[in-house]
Amino acid sequence: MPISSPGHIDLLKAYWLWTVLIMSVLSVPLNRFDEVQSVLESPLPDGHRPASLPVRNPTKSFWIDTPGANPLAKEGSSGDLTSDADVCIIGSGITGVSAAYHLAKAANASDDNFDLKIVILEARDFCSGATGRRNGGHLTPAAFLDFTLAQAAHGTDETIRSLALERYTVSEIVKLLEEKDVAEAVDLVAGGHTTMLFTDAELEQAKRDFEAAKNAGVDLSSVEWISRQEMETRFGASFPGFHFPSYNLWPLKLVTQLYLKASKLTSLHLHTNTPVEKITSIPTNESRASRRWSLHTGRGKVACSYVIHATNAYASHLLPHMSGPGGIVPTRGQIVAIRADAPTSKLSKASWDGNEGFEYWFPRPVSTDETPLVILGGGREAGSKFEYYETDDSSVSEVVGQALRGFLPSVFPKLYTRGKDPEMEWTGIMGYTSMRDPFVGPVLRPSGDNDEFDGQYIAAGYTGHGMPRAFACAEAVSQMVMAKVMGNEWVRPTWLPERYLTWKRYITSK
Ligand SMILES: Cc1cc2nc3c(=O)[nH]c(=O)nc-3n(C[C@H](O)[C@H](O)[C@H](O)COP(=O)(O)OP(=O)(O)OC[C@H]3O[C@@H](n4cnc5c(N)ncnc54)[C@H](O)[C@@H]3O)c2cc1C
Repeated sequence: MPISSPGHIDLLKAYWLWTVLIMSVLSVPLNRFDEVQSVLESPLPDGHRPASLPVRNPTKSFWIDTPGANPLAKEGSSGDLTSDADVCIIGSGITGVSAAYHLAKAANASDDNFDLKIVILEARDFCSGATGRRNGGHLTPAAFLDFTLAQAAHGTDETIRSLALERYTVSEIVKLLEEKDVAEAVDLVAGGHTTMLFTDAELEQAKRDFEAAKNAGVDLSSVEWISRQEMETRFGASFPGFHFPSYNLWPLKLVTQLYLKASKLTSLHLHTNTPVEKITSIPTNESRASRRWSLHTGRGKVACSYVIHATNAYASHLLPHMSGPGGIVPTRGQIVAIRADAPTSKLSKASWDGNEGFEYWFPRPVSTDETPLVILGGGREAGSKFEYYETDDSSVSEVVGQALRGFLPSVFPKLYTRGKDPEMEWTGIMGYTSMRDPFVGPVLRPSGDNDEFDGQYIAAGYTGHGMPRAFACAEAVSQMVMAKVMGNEWVRPTWLPERYLTWKRYITSK
């Protein structure tokens, strides 16, 4: 149809009218993605400061503050500090603990079967960053959305690799949990994921992405499209969408299992409530066992040969050159735990997202005759600064909270009551990058002497989508460290996108 034909104009009018109608019903604004992304990419007028350390008194979260959920919370927080290690990992979220797991496994499997000495240093309680207090445990590999965008920016092979990394991560985690018979202990649910498309423009774009991915050879046979009528019949919501295989779990419990597994394979020490304040190099003549780096904490120093920064949103605290849109931007996410008014059988066991991915929710697994607690996150697009550059997770935003409170009743009027207060509400800090992909590899500066950080590595900046990426990115940096330890050359795994690698990126702190 020609762009200016009367038919085309009628279609545009219909799109516009539908969008206006939906916007008047929903508690969140629509079509904000481009604006939110452009703010992320813009330097702050007054320049950038490094991120703070994690604050001491974070909001209470369902995942962490449920009694018994965090047996390692205070592990190694008192007594002697381990003063020497082969590898120091900073941060005990899914990245840091996955790195310890992969290193321990590789050292154990090597011909020499040597005892690699690993220390994890954590600023607060065990796993109390984005992973531990994060949203509903969506272990959701991207299906095909944004395929055309990524293809235009990075080419087809790279776009296929992004999907491959996420499928690899999810299948490895599920395999590991099932092999160890701990799937139940971490509440693993194979309920799949449903994406809701609120506007016709979103639906059209999703269809274009689906076709492009299919034409590129991505297997999409398990994707099920759901029409507006079917969504209405099944859930009383008047939006179309699609459903695809994925999982949900309790992230803190997954990370605890990974830690316990790693600690059986090698010498692993965890020191919680021990923030790393700075890192200095050890002059060669002072070095014991040729250790290169000294990590300074309020409890003393730890000397080590290799450092893995698994600090995500807080990376620029120790690496100030990674402040600002060229590095990692701390971004606060907010969650409410709200009781549904219908049983799980009516809500489905799937995790969900909608509104360009800004909102995401998941009913906690309970028996079908109960009304479950639903963990709902999002609402950032309702605020003026989109919660960028915010590292304070001891408070919540009122504007975001209001948007979240109204969201589910406006989408599913028959399943949720308007005006009901959440049972819990909390925030957590995510690490965003302009490219929306993480940094993986040796710590580098875009200019200057890159030997400056020799032996330091990073896997961070998942842009709110770390569950299906962090385990594999941690595997990649662990392989890099092991290659150095063993004197081998590191080979990129086929599933790792090249653009994630630090030496392929331009890092700048404008
Ligand atoms: C509200 C919210 C909702 C989210 N929803 C989803 C979702 O639906 N799906 C999804 O895939 N992802 C989601 N994410 C993102 C996901 O949680 C993260 O991508 C992932 O958990 C990052 O893991 P990590 O281990 O790299 O970082 P973190 O879990 O943040 O771990 C970093 C750790 O480093 C510690 N640390 C920082 N600096 C120092 C220091 N100097 N010394 C010692 N320790 C330090 C911190 O205390 C923290 O424990 C969400 C995140 C939040 C906050």
